[in-house]
Amino acid sequence: MNAVSEGALPDRRGAKVDELTGLPGRDALLGRIATLPDSAECGMLCVDIDQLAALNEAMGLSAGDQLIAEVARRIAASAGPADLLVRLDGDAFALLLDLTGKPQSLERIAAAMVHALCAPYLLAGREVFISASMGAAYGGRLLLQHAETALARAKESARGGWLMYSEDMARSLGEYFHLETELRQAIDGEQFLVYYQPKASCRTGAVTGFEALLRWNHPSRGIVPPSEFIPRLEKSGLIQRVGAWVLRSACVQLKEWLQAGYGDLHMAINLSLRQLADPDFPDQVRDIVEEIQVPLDRIELEITESMLMYDVDQAEKSLRRLKGLGLHLSIDDFGTGYSSLSYLKRLPIDTLKVDRSFVQDITIDPNDASITRAIISMAHSLKLKVVAEGVEAEAQIATLVLEQCETIQGYYISKPLPAAAASAFLASGWRIPPQLLGRPAKERTLLLVDDEEGILMALRRLLRREDYRILCGRSGAEGLELLAKNDVDVVLSDQRMPEMTGEEFLRRTKELYPHTVRMVLSGFADMESITNAINQGAIYKFMCKPWDEKTLKDGIQEAFQRKEINDRHQRMLSDIAQANDHLNKDNQSLAVQLDAQSHTAMISQAALYIAQENLNQLPVPVMGLDPSGLVVLRNEAALSIPQQACLDLAAQFPPALHSQPFHLEYQEPGGRRWQVMARHLLSEHQHRGTVLAFIGDAK
Ligand code: C2E
Ligand code: MG
Ligand code: MG
Repeated sequence: MNAVSEGALPDRRGAKVDELTGLPGRDALLGRIATLPDSAECGMLCVDIDQLAALNEAMGLSAGDQLIAEVARRIAASAGPADLLVRLDGDAFALLLDLTGKPQSLERIAAAMVHALCAPYLLAGREVFISASMGAAYGGRLLLQHAETALARAKESARGGWLMYSEDMARSLGEYFHLETELRQAIDGEQFLVYYQPKASCRTGAVTGFEALLRWNHPSRGIVPPSEFIPRLEKSGLIQRVGAWVLRSACVQLKEWLQAGYGDLHMAINLSLRQLADPDFPDQVRDIVEEIQVPLDRIELEITESMLMYDVDQAEKSLRRLKGLGLHLSIDDFGTGYSSLSYLKRLPIDTLKVDRSFVQDITIDPNDASITRAIISMAHSLKLKVVAEGVEAEAQIATLVLEQCETIQGYYISKPLPAAAASAFLASGWRIPPQLLGRPAKERTLLLVDDEEGILMALRRLLRREDYRILCGRSGAEGLELLAKNDVDVVLSDQRMPEMTGEEFLRRTKELYPHTVRMVLSGFADMESITNAINQGAIYKFMCKPWDEKTLKDGIQEAFQRKEINDRHQRMLSDIAQANDHLNKDNQSLAVQLDAQSHTAMISQAALYIAQENLNQLPVPVMGLDPSGLVVLRNEAALSIPQQACLDLAAQFPPALHSQPFHLEYQEPGGRRWQVMARHLLSEHQHRGTVLAFIGDAK
């Protein structure tokens, strides 16, 4: 009888047996292992059902029980009479196998069992797919411990599969569990910190907010970056606690800054998949933010593209609720995942954060530049704002500004800072240098016209952080006077004013200063005249009194952007006009030159004609040859001399070294024998041709 055969399945000899499966428990197994002789050839398989908790939740406990019983049955089917199967706990089983004389190796048995356990289950009349993970180990007293280690490893890295135990596994698993223990201690020991990285506006150059970034102040390793522990916090489920803590800390910090007078700051917080997947998360956020009393619209939650891919329907639900609370939402690391345009359109997102990898090479790699440009313009066409991440150099800013990216974040502004250093940074008043913002050096000038002093004051207060030069007129006439004395970009006028209505004032403004962008702010709408004014281009936008602060601020900002785009167009047009002007001037001088040339050509022509006439008067044949011997000029007397005669004569010419006359003879075929006087024509030592005069009969 071999070592394990006594425990043939099921064990009915006094051991406690599980009611559901009829299997003994861990004690029975330990008892059996303790009695194994050293020479026993044994193997152990530990099996764990992967999704039991989810199944219990979705289909109820009785379906869960059915599943457990069926899994036990399938495992038992691979067990021989000499093997021992036990139920370790809820969803875990162990099978002690006597391998003596077994034709199959432990590996083969494990692979076959994984396969068997993955086949569909019929539970409560439905077909359900469930997987199980498995750890395997050979021989020895520690085989249960080893198989459980391998199982833990398989759950981690090979879910739905199996792994054989190895020594390395024990070591790395030790570290693995150690990290989790340390993270738990970190929570209790308050070793987590939040660092803050500033963001700045490409429009004003000012700091507009911070991103909260988690750090772990490890007792021996110092500050540990999140990439080394966030994945582990997520896996262990600790991220929800830590994430809530980050949110709370960031809100407390934001409140402190808001109270210190930095009224426009926003705080961005990163979310993990588990937080987004938790249906209670939106309520938790609301509770925390309301408890600390910061405005919900100052909080921005960052989610990555990959989180959307996991379960877009659930993500959409949570995002809609968060958005409904007034929070801002942004997509982090955009460009690195696979989110499609349709997702972006469907989800209530406000901002895209373009991943650092695109920004890094923007000024070097034309591909990255064009992808970044495309992302920015796509985002704008979906009415999303853009944050460029990882900005490190000035040259990157210039390109991003040109593409109208709204906000930048990166080491160029500052690395993430501990709270105190971030406060000091804020207090330093840091700004992007104006020359990088590519804005015209002149200030953005806004003219407000309203007969009510209170309204002018309220508007000034609303816009005090916007970096505009603000002029105030109490009437249309005052407005026109201010326009005459100042270079105004945007005009915002009340409609109902004594003496001159807003509409009339803006009509005149349009005639006198057509490049201004003009808006009406009115509680009273004389629809007809305002519609006319809009249609005739006197008014760009109509804004309502009483106003919504954000809408009004955004409207004015858009008006300045429009003005700057118009100015840029205007500058381009004038550049084009100037270039055309240059081109015209060049054309004119070319025409003058051509005239002069054709005049010279006419003179030459006339000279040639006169020369030809003179030659014709000569009673003897005269000819001009080019350097190759071709006739280029002849008088009437020479018409009888054939070209061939000239070529023959040219063959006898002495080298063209000087212009002394030389003599040759020519025999007319069947006629006169001529004495020919010739002279090479040289100018600037170049042979230009030869003149021949047939002067009389040869002796
Ligand atoms: P992220 O949200 O994309 O954060 C930006 C990361 O880029 C930060 O790394 C930041 O330090 C780094 N960075 C910013 N500017 C530059 C730059 O100019 N050059 C370079 N080379 N890097 C720059 P960090 O702090 O190590 O955070 C890494 C990631 O960890 C974050 O990426 C975020 O996904 C995650 N994370 C951080 N804190 C939390 C948190 O509280 N909860 C969750 N769920 N995730 C967090
Ligand atoms: Mg982020
Ligand atoms: Mg990012």
